[in-house]
Amino acid sequence: GGVRAGLYSESDQVAILSPDNVDAVLFNSPSAALLEFYASWCGHCVAFSPVWKKLALDIKEWKLAVYLAAIDCADESNRAVCVRFGITGYPSLRFLPAFSSNDSTGEDLRGFSRDVAGLRHLIIDKLESHKHPGPPACPPLEKTSAREIDSYVENSRGQNLALVFEEDDSYVGREVILDLLQYENITVRRVLRSEEELVSRLSVTDFPSVYLYKTHTNFTRLPVLKEARAFYSYALQRLPGVVREGKPRPEVSDFIRNETEEQWRPFNKTRVYMSDLESALHYSLRVELASHLVISGEALIALRGYVSVLDKYFPGRPPVKNALKAVNDWLQKQKVTSINYSDFREALDTTSADSYLPKAVRWMGCQGSKQHYRGYPCAMWTLFHTLTVQALETESKDPQEVLQAMRRYVSSFFGCRPCAVHFKNMAQESMDNVNSLRAAVLWLWSRHNRVNARLAGELSEDPHFPKVQWPPPDLCPACHSLKPGGEHTWLQDEVLAFLRNYYSAQHLLHDFLS
Ligand code: FAD
Repeated sequence: GGVRAGLYSESDQVAILSPDNVDAVLFNSPSAALLEFYASWCGHCVAFSPVWKKLALDIKEWKLAVYLAAIDCADESNRAVCVRFGITGYPSLRFLPAFSSNDSTGEDLRGFSRDVAGLRHLIIDKLESHKHPGPPACPPLEKTSAREIDSYVENSRGQNLALVFEEDDSYVGREVILDLLQYENITVRRVLRSEEELVSRLSVTDFPSVYLYKTHTNFTRLPVLKEARAFYSYALQRLPGVVREGKPRPEVSDFIRNETEEQWRPFNKTRVYMSDLESALHYSLRVELASHLVISGEALIALRGYVSVLDKYFPGRPPVKNALKAVNDWLQKQKVTSINYSDFREALDTTSADSYLPKAVRWMGCQGSKQHYRGYPCAMWTLFHTLTVQALETESKDPQEVLQAMRRYVSSFFGCRPCAVHFKNMAQESMDNVNSLRAAVLWLWSRHNRVNARLAGELSEDPHFPKVQWPPPDLCPACHSLKPGGEHTWLQDEVLAFLRNYYSAQHLLHDFLS
């Protein structure tokens, strides 16, 4: 199982401290840290923990400059660490500058804000007033001037330069600067409204707004759906030529396959393909399950649940639906406590002209630019999103049915074991609270986005399919909005409407079925 430390798990973007790692994680680190000392029995700490997790995800891109950590002082083995820091009440926050020595106890942040935006601003204030030397990875956060920009342009050799024009007290510019910290070939600076020379040179009238600046006379406004941090960062991270540090630049030649690989098939990135859904069926039923020679106990419950929701909700072609029904009927008839995979396989392989299951894998929307990217895990997400939407459209009785089937399948069979651990942690946290079919669709959508946020920039990410918070503004403009303070927010009704259409049976593409 996952390492659980009181209120946080390894699935959160929070470094979990213990006596074994505290020295290595905190001291002489090139990043600053914000530490939460809590006690798992303390009600305020429990109430604060979702904020801390949300903040950690929100500023995940800033990690090289500053990261979040937490330690459970109710855990006896941590007592010595909490005593060393002189902690007496919970939750307590300490700011620990980069390169702190191991006798340092950090700065006690009293009366800290209890919301994500307030904490983010606090972190920026701390980074800006950081004593020398600051975190080496932290880009300059201070305002820039016309003179500085002119000298920069002379020396920058065509590197992208984005200027965030904003009011003096706005944090948007600094947030975007930090959001782009791990990206190459782009520099972001903030320009205050009071910097009249630049404001008039570009004839800027909206604050905030972002401009891509090449020279005195060559600049363009960055087009975005809304003038706010999330939209600026999303757009800048996707500018041509901008790549994540340490990641190979995606090449068009990535798609040219050698002879042993399958041909690349161009596809519509905004649609769901039946071919992916059928390939997920084939792979899970005939490949993944095949490594379980005998299926019993929890695994048998998982298999029954999985096949049962497939029978009910898989929006398949008639012969595929017939076959799923036959397999489900067969499973229901087995009144035993364990079955052999070989018997199950026989049931899968029993076909007729109007009842058969796909016999091969052919990824379409889930094709990766290289063979080891995407494919099956992409298709599993696609499959379960489709099933939650189908359960809603057919007015199923049980809002938990599809999610519980997914939870059990992933736990018993999903070959990516770390994925299973993370999914279990998320399920444990909130899946049981889902009490309507709509909530089930949205639960899976929001957890998938959490996974996307966690994996953005990881090695497993296909450079041609970077992980985004989905659906991005260009796919669903109506899904995105701003709270009064300028924070990004999802309009859940719009998201639900979008998902119901995107994953609907009528909207599926049937090209390239094997
Ligand atoms: P995927 O994330 O697989 O998404 C597939 C498609 O779904 C996207 O192309 C998009 O069209 C759509 N989509 C994206 N986001 C959403 C959303 N929020 N709601 C609805 N539709 C959406 N990999 C790890 O490295 N570590 C893990 O811990 C991990 N856990 C996983 C847990 C589960 C249950 C599953 C099924 C997979 C997990 N993976 C994990 C794999 C990882 O999530 C991706 O599936 C894989 O990296 C392939 O990514 P992809 O680019 O094809 O997009």
